[in-house]
Amino acid sequence: MFTHPDFDAHEMVTWIQDPHTGLRAVIAVHSTALGPGMGGCRLWTYPDAAAGLTDVLRLSRGMSLKNAMADLALGGGKAVIFGPVPEDAAARREAFRAFGRAVASLGGKYVTAEDVGVSVADMEAVAEETRHVSGLPPAGGAVGGDPSPYTARGVLRGIEAAVARRLGRADLDGLRVAVQGTGNVGGSLCRMLAERGADLVIAEANTARRDALAADLGAEVVEGDAILSAEADVFAPCALGGVLTAQNVAGLKAKIIAGAANNQLADEAAGHALAARGITYVPDYVLNAGGIIAVGAEYLGDKTRDQVMTAVDAIGPRVAELLARAEAEGQRTDLLADRMAMERIAAARG
Ligand code: NAD
Repeated sequence: MFTHPDFDAHEMVTWIQDPHTGLRAVIAVHSTALGPGMGGCRLWTYPDAAAGLTDVLRLSRGMSLKNAMADLALGGGKAVIFGPVPEDAAARREAFRAFGRAVASLGGKYVTAEDVGVSVADMEAVAEETRHVSGLPPAGGAVGGDPSPYTARGVLRGIEAAVARRLGRADLDGLRVAVQGTGNVGGSLCRMLAERGADLVIAEANTARRDALAADLGAEVVEGDAILSAEADVFAPCALGGVLTAQNVAGLKAKIIAGAANNQLADEAAGHALAARGITYVPDYVLNAGGIIAVGAEYLGDKTRDQVMTAVDAIGPRVAELLARAEAEGQRTDLLADRMAMERIAAARG
């Protein structure tokens, strides 16, 4: 593992196998320099364990960068559970309790929450075993629960900032936005964009979900990868990572890429291709920090609800500043963001 291309001096990687429930998972803590390593738990059916390891190494490093850029007192960590887990509700609950015991055994070095495939109910099961969990149902107006609406709000603020900078527009009226994946975040984002008068074109693997949203918001529907080359001002990847490659960047029509999905650039060549084509790329982890700002506050107890909203809205000015600085320095936005975040982590380590 130490020679794995995505291994980046991660502090800890723990493999979990629970003989009673059949749970198999891996937890990676990239850095605790700024605070406990926090990041969601993803449930996914990987082709093999190596693919899950690659995902968790990349995602946990991404959380370190995201939390540092969002000015949070949190390091970076992530967990993946190898799907499928049992469909039966009681058996699924037991599997998540087993995961909770594994989180507990790390004594707060890793703090978990929801990610793709994982629900608030799953985190409630985890909370039966450990207090190092967030994204739980909020009590009496407190911050917490499903992070997706906060993530969507932050993405919206980032899109507004990028549109102002790149297209010189102060509103989203008539702006055409292509959204890939209309799940928890993408769905909320579509509703917010529609409220601001944006025209939507969507692609979503779950056709029932897609058609309901399209009918509700009057969105145009495209199939599969056609979303990448759809006529649009903004492309918002909100499904899974690795969606942008040097090959498909060539066909993009959008001038701005700004979406919630983690690790949107499949590789270094994709970032290079975006820059070469003059497409404004808003680094995913700068844009999608709204959820971790909310669940981080829930765990740390360091912000009121109003303060959380203010911190999520600050993603807009942060994006504006990053884009301005990248332009002034002639730097790629993703590389500049990485450098800024790594400097913060290195300073804390020092
Ligand atoms: P989700 O599972 O609710 O939604 C993802 C949607 O994408 C699903 O509806 C799925 O059917 C669809 N999808 C998958 N592959 C697709 C494809 N090739 N084309 C079209 N649709 C496809 O997940 P989510 O919570 O909305 O998260 C979306 C992305 O944002 C993920 O990459 C996640 O890591 C990232 N993210 C989420 C949060 C959060 O608060 N939930 C925070 C930060 C980042």
